[in-house]
Amino acid sequence: MKRTLSNPLCPKILNCRRLKLKRKRTNLTKNSQTPLSSTSSSQNPHKPLKKRQLKEQAKKSEELLASVEKLVSLQVEERAIVAVQNKEEKIRMLEVTEGIKNQYLDCFMIASLQALFSVREFFEYYFEGDFGEKGSGGEGMEVSRELHQVCKKYKRARGKCISVKRFRKYFNGDFDNYKQHDACQFILHLFEKLQKEHSPETPFSQSSGHANSIEAWESYTEDLHSIIDKLFVGMSKTTFTCHSCSNSTSIYEEFKTIPLQCTSTFTFPFYETSTSEFNCSTCADITSCSITNTISHYPSYLLLPFQRLDPFISSKITKSLPFPSSFSPSPTSSLNYSLLSTINHHGFSLEGGHYTAACRRGKSGEEKWMQCDDAHVEEGETDGDEYVLLYGSRRKGG
Ligand SMILES: [Zn+2]
Repeated sequence: MKRTLSNPLCPKILNCRRLKLKRKRTNLTKNSQTPLSSTSSSQNPHKPLKKRQLKEQAKKSEELLASVEKLVSLQVEERAIVAVQNKEEKIRMLEVTEGIKNQYLDCFMIASLQALFSVREFFEYYFEGDFGEKGSGGEGMEVSRELHQVCKKYKRARGKCISVKRFRKYFNGDFDNYKQHDACQFILHLFEKLQKEHSPETPFSQSSGHANSIEAWESYTEDLHSIIDKLFVGMSKTTFTCHSCSNSTSIYEEFKTIPLQCTSTFTFPFYETSTSEFNCSTCADITSCSITNTISHYPSYLLLPFQRLDPFISSKITKSLPFPSSFSPSPTSSLNYSLLSTINHHGFSLEGGHYTAACRRGKSGEEKWMQCDDAHVEEGETDGDEYVLLYGSRRKGG
């Protein structure tokens, strides 16, 4: 992960120049907030409003926005709970843990696969799936098909470690052989490949002009049916509110990870506010605006990498960091995330050192923590140097 900006949800959005360009290109639709001039019917629309009136207007808009958001967030929670109920039966842990042979500096990939295999739905999908054969309709599904082979070997290994040599070949171009790589970047790369194999048209990652969070999510998933979108993709919402005219615009963006700051307490960034400059289409000027970041769609499985790369000294933050075995994303949330696996990095640079994983595995009700170090697998909890945390969602009390 090389996202080093202060906003962990949508760092890209903070890039003002890019945003302005994008606004020009896409002519962003304003959201349900009515522009100031049209709501003040008693005012001459050409006469500038006084400061006090502007303040009142801004307050009213904020109140309206807050009440609409409250309703929508209730709906969002309700939908997430239904989704969780539907999958609760399937959430039982994978029952086996097998070692994976390290050919040469492949531990970043091995630890990533071990962590992902703790997501039973992910493992079963690729274990059971039919991804066709080359030359008979299976073109363009090479990575899915090879992952299917890896899952088959894994489930049938019976204590013998497996090889992922053939699977490794599909990544040689982006992750050179005989070199260490960042495990989190590998997971994101793998996810993109798998998404593209299911939906060859590149999915949009950012959109605006939606009435609310549900509409934004439905619009994103309309043509996307990959298991990655279903399990690992969430959506964030960034709202820009102009301080001069109180006009606001919301931009929705999909995410697959939420980077965590390396602080002394675990903080999940479900809501953040900041102030910045903004090219306001109503004021037709660059004005000051407030920026609010929230999560508008919670994924079933949440990947949280610690931002261990110190942007100032370009070296790894090696201190041990706190994280909970389960947590609720916000104080009012009905969701609960519980820890399924961790990817641990030992060493001083994410492009060097050694990766291992700790995974919760076993029959439902008899899960155990397993430490996975390449071919070697033994019982034991994560023992420090956590880099990526993988959580699975459950209903509170479930
Ligand atoms: Zn404005």
